[in-house]
Parts: sequence; C-alpha cells; structure tokens
Amino acid sequence: MTLKLNAKHVIDEIPFLDLKSQQNKIITQINKSIKRVLDHGKYIMGPEVFELEEKLASYSNVKNVITCSSGTDALMMVLMAKQIGPGDAIFLPSFTYTATPEVVAILGATPIFVDVLFDTYNIDAKSLLKSIGIAKEHGLKPKAIIAVDLFGQPSDYNALEKIADENELWILADAAQSYGAEFLKKKVGKLAHATATSFFPAKPLGCYGDGGAIFTDNDELADTLRSIRVHGKGEHKYDNVRIGLNARLDTIQAAILLEKIKIFDDELKIRQNVADYYNKMLKNIVQVPFVIKDTKSAWAQYTIQLPDKSFRETLMSELKKVGIPSMIYYQKPLHLQTAYKQFPKSNSLKVSEEISEKVLSLPINLKHSSYITQKFCEIFKQIFKN
Ligand SMILES: *Cc1c(COP(=O)(O)O)cnc(C)c1O
Repeated sequence: MTLKLNAKHVIDEIPFLDLKSQQNKIITQINKSIKRVLDHGKYIMGPEVFELEEKLASYSNVKNVITCSSGTDALMMVLMAKQIGPGDAIFLPSFTYTATPEVVAILGATPIFVDVLFDTYNIDAKSLLKSIGIAKEHGLKPKAIIAVDLFGQPSDYNALEKIADENELWILADAAQSYGAEFLKKKVGKLAHATATSFFPAKPLGCYGDGGAIFTDNDELADTLRSIRVHGKGEHKYDNVRIGLNARLDTIQAAILLEKIKIFDDELKIRQNVADYYNKMLKNIVQVPFVIKDTKSAWAQYTIQLPDKSFRETLMSELKKVGIPSMIYYQKPLHLQTAYKQFPKSNSLKVSEEISEKVLSLPINLKHSSYITQKFCEIFKQIFKN
C-alpha cells in the first residue's frame, strides 16, 4: 500500500547513527592523540592502552580492566579463563546478537537458549530456571549465565544473582550495548563476576575500529585474562603457560577512546534526552521502551514494538520515503538460526519469537528528533486508517 503524505518537508536521508557530528566535536583532540602515538611508535600495548584501562576502571569503579581486540574476544577470553569446554552448558538469551552464543560454541561448550522478557528484552529468570533443568537432562554441566544487556539496559542482576547462587553458576555480563548504564546506582562493569564490552564504532562508547574490554574485581581472573590476551604468556611473551590468543587493543584505538571517554557522559545525556523526547511523543501510539526502576539505559538502541510484521514493513518503507532510516534488531531469534539448530531446544522461546516480528529501532538523533517523531506519528496513523 502507498500512503499519500505531505511530501513538502522531505529531507535527505538522516543517518541511522550520527557518528559524524560527534566526531566534529573532538576532531582536533583526536588528531593530536593519534599523532602522539605515531610519534612514540608504541603501536602495540603502548602507554595509552594502560592509561585507558585506568580511566575505565575508575569510571566503572572496578578493580581490573583488561582491554582487548573486540567485544566478541572479550566474551571468549572470560570463557577461556574459566576453562569452559565440551560438556559445559552456558545459559544465554535467544534474542541477542550472534556473538553471544558463538563464543560458547567455538569452545565446544553448549549454548542453552533462554527466553527474554516482553518488556525489557532481557533474560527471563523463570525461563532460565527451566533451562537449567533441561541442560541437566541432556547430561550437561551447568556452568555460567551470559546476561545480555540488550539495547543498553542492564539485566535484572539481582534476580540472576539469586539463581546463580542457588545453582553454583557464575555470571558473565555481555555489556556490549550497555557500557555507561546503571543498575541500582551501580555502573555496568560492577554488576557481574565479569563484564565484557565492545568498542565497535556503533556501540555507546565506540572507537574507530574494533575494540573491547573486560571488567572484573577478581584479581586472579584478571591475571589469567592478561595472559590469554598475549598468547597465554607467563613471565614474558616467550614463556607460554597456556593456550591464548592475540587479542590486544591497538594503541591508536586506545588513544581515540581516551578522547571519547572525556565526552562520554555528555553523549549519554544526549541519548537519554532523545529517548525521553521520543517516549513523550510516541507513548500514546506504540509500545515505547520500558526501563526498570532505578536503572539507567545507555540507549544503544531506541526500540519500539509494533502490532505485527506487515505493519512494520509498511512503516519502515514509508519512513524511508521521508528520509528516516530504521533497523530491525533482531529479525530472527538465534535458536531458529541455521548455525544453532544443532543445540538442545529447551523450553518455550515464544517471547523471543514474537518480538522479533514486532521490534523496530529508530535513529537516536538529536538534530532531527522532532522531524522524526512528527513524521512517525503521521505515517503510523495513516497505516492504521488504511
Ligand atoms: C556488538 C555485540 C557483541 C560483539 O562485539 P564486537 O566488538 O562487535 O565483537 C557482542 N554482544 C552483543 C550483544 C553485541 O551487541
């Protein structure tokens, strides 16, 4: 169906993520920072890497920060440090990005998909309990929970902690989308035994390439992670005490992040302001994001729910016509993806299946926020009428 809309105000395509205007704010400092690295020439594990780790540790109030090559490697390094392998069951949500279960499967362990909550999109404690039973039925050893803080909102770590304690599991937070967020006044990085984040450009704190970090208060785990990061080094690089990876963060990326972290709180405020504004303008027509009490999202995505798949399709194409991009995170829950079909089907994953047909993420864009909400409302009402 085509809609007749007033096309007078059609503008050029708005970027889904406006990294350019953020870069413009700090380009002089970024250039200086990169130049400093070029001058000292310590491209691998240069001083900026350690300076960044200190800054991140104090920002999150965590004892140890180990930067690394990506968010995916951050997740995998923790599982490696904990010697996760064949026969082990790792519980994680089905409604997430493929990196979360991928690292489990790479190590020969079994990802057990858990359903998510309809409102927060994060792991459902009830479904988790069922999944633990199912893993045991399959003769697997329940080892850990990977809680994904989807779209920037921390999972309910109190509920998960309780289940973890009762079942002798530990928690790895996949905070690729939630760095900078808070749960009960505690910053992400401090909410789980270990926390992995990503500095992929599109994440709340992004660099200009790949990067990641692990946060933990446990010194022993931190030492093991520092070893894994450099080929399982012992006393030095040529003393090999375990199987490791080449998983270091580039010094140039650390130098960029040192400038980005200076404006990070302001960037988070901007995202919060845009989310508040969208909530106000859209709450009467669609299901807007739900953030639990005393929790702050980092707003990696602003994600709404629509009546159904065909409504979503029409809305997306009409938005596109007026220059507004939108994205579907995620089209298919992971338990239905070809790569993961071999793993035990656990309990019902109905919520994951339902929301993958209804969610839509809108650009978090300060400059065009009023245009976006105005057009959105017009188009939405038109589709309903037809
Ligand atoms: C982006 C992302 C990752 C992986 O991070 P990379 O830095 O791209 O490897 C892992 N988990 C989730 C939930 C993500 O969104």
